[in-house]
Amino acid sequence: MASATFTVQQDTALTNSHITLSVAQTASLRSQLKSQRGILNSNNIKQLCAQLNVSDDALLQGLVPLASEYAVAPISDFHVGAIVKALDENDEVNFYFGANVEFDHQALSLVVHAEQSAINNAWLNGAKKIVKIAISDAPCGYCRQFMNELSDAKEFDILLPEQHFKLAELLPHSFGPTDLGNAFSLFNPEPHQQVFVNAQLDEKLASTALNAYVPYSKNFSAVKISTFENGDFYGSYAENAAYSPSLSPLQSALSQLFIAGLSFNESTVKSITLLETAGHENQAGVARAVLASFNNLPAIEVISAQLK
Ligand SMILES: [Zn+2]
Repeated sequence: MASATFTVQQDTALTNSHITLSVAQTASLRSQLKSQRGILNSNNIKQLCAQLNVSDDALLQGLVPLASEYAVAPISDFHVGAIVKALDENDEVNFYFGANVEFDHQALSLVVHAEQSAINNAWLNGAKKIVKIAISDAPCGYCRQFMNELSDAKEFDILLPEQHFKLAELLPHSFGPTDLGNAFSLFNPEPHQQVFVNAQLDEKLASTALNAYVPYSKNFSAVKISTFENGDFYGSYAENAAYSPSLSPLQSALSQLFIAGLSFNESTVKSITLLETAGHENQAGVARAVLASFNNLPAIEVISAQLK
């Protein structure tokens, strides 16, 4: 079994048809991305655009190879990067990075795709509207279906290295939430007032679970990964009308940890907690399967809490 330790490159310059950075500029950007957990805010973006004399769309596409450096791909060795350009609640543009994650010796269906990783990063960190997503490679069918669950699915642009598309061009005659009678979507969930009865819960874990997008199973659930030196990482459950492309809360949290440039092993991880909704639990089994891919991790704590 492999422990997911990987090394983000440190000494190469990022140069492509969109942007040209020096070795020092690239190193500084890598360290900024690590400290900001895979997010560039509007000030960062404005500064970089001014410094490099490029538009923010050229910057978006030019940075995609940097996103792919965060891939953990022990099976395919195929490193995919994606960056979501989205507006936050103040209508400011932010870039949210994502990369694929694979798990050794586990079913291939458990992997996290780069597009899911970037969308998850945006979703967990307060993005309100996706404008564009730039990807290093064409999105697979699974990712096209995952993106079809987004409230902005019809509008946003998908930027591939050589061509731009709308999702409808890549996924005609699609199946989506409305086919299951669900009028809501990821980034536009059904409003609800419910809270967990157990008042002793970690507050951020509880709120992350309550923000889950779970129109099909109703299992409001989240995962918290506590690290020894780099704080806590939270992930939330994002379901999909086609079911299979749903992103589990553990995958969501792990993807956040990897996009911050951390390794997932016993020297990094202090504890792992899964919170689920009593009566709707469906995540403990898949979480243990994913964790079985790693050695010597702390046992996952699983909490079922009642909603009121
Ligand atoms: Zn994919």
